[in-house]
Amino acid sequence: EYIIQNELLLPKKEASIPLDDRGYYFGDGVYEVIKVYNGQLFAKDEHLQRLVDSAKKLEIPLPFSIEKMEELLYSLVEKNSMQNGLVYFQITRGVEPRNHLYSRELKSTFTAFVQPPQDVEDAQKNGVNVWLTDDIRWLRCDIKTINLLGNVMVKREAADHHCQEAIMHRNGTITEASSSNVFLVKDKILYTHPATNLILNGITRQLIIKVAKKYGYEVVEEPFPVEVLEHADEAFISNTSLEITPIKAVYGQLTTTFPIGPVTKDLQIKFKELM
Ligand code: PMP
Repeated sequence: EYIIQNELLLPKKEASIPLDDRGYYFGDGVYEVIKVYNGQLFAKDEHLQRLVDSAKKLEIPLPFSIEKMEELLYSLVEKNSMQNGLVYFQITRGVEPRNHLYSRELKSTFTAFVQPPQDVEDAQKNGVNVWLTDDIRWLRCDIKTINLLGNVMVKREAADHHCQEAIMHRNGTITEASSSNVFLVKDKILYTHPATNLILNGITRQLIIKVAKKYGYEVVEEPFPVEVLEHADEAFISNTSLEITPIKAVYGQLTTTFPIGPVTKDLQIKFKELM
């Protein structure tokens, strides 16, 4: 297995990370995950742009150009002979003795590796159970930072209740899930939280909205309260790996179930066509 560290393609066991990398002490970095589909990086430009935007919001300098990054990612996929799977990559602010105050002169650190595809077929077909809990995260969830403690805590909580994903609400408003966005369907209209500072604007989310509108669905990007879940016809989550995955049941602060409905199924087909 080969990975990329800065500009080098190396066997994983030859790579090492400096102890003083700010990513290690502070989670001071940003990342992306792209789906590799038939050897191609799906929605590559959108993911690279989001990485640039996240880095900019944190004043993290890019280690090299976007073109170079793209070239490195393709070389990584080829070197690992990957046809289908995921590529993970991150940029951390760089190396300096531990100090909350960051300097602006650091050379940022680039790391990338591939992961085999997750088995999502069953989830996509039969849906998943989700756990409803409080959104305990900070107020800049629009930044795709590697600092994910709020997300990992609720993911563990969900798994401990036999749920595959945690969906979160902030003061009674559904925001998103621990590693995916949330959509509801009511009377063939789609509802999802707007792309504000309270959610990560998923690339999958954006593509779903585009496809849905193209096929004549109305999409309402407005905050909705937890109680609306109980009256929805269908619900699903979305991310790069799961694409569109139906929610079968909600547990936790509210209990309700959903059928795998016609709108979700239709959008799954239309999304696959995009790929
Ligand atoms: N929200 C959160 C909190 C996430 O971690 C992710 C996945 N990284 C998403 C939404 C979905 O984003 P995408 O569709 O770009 O994978």
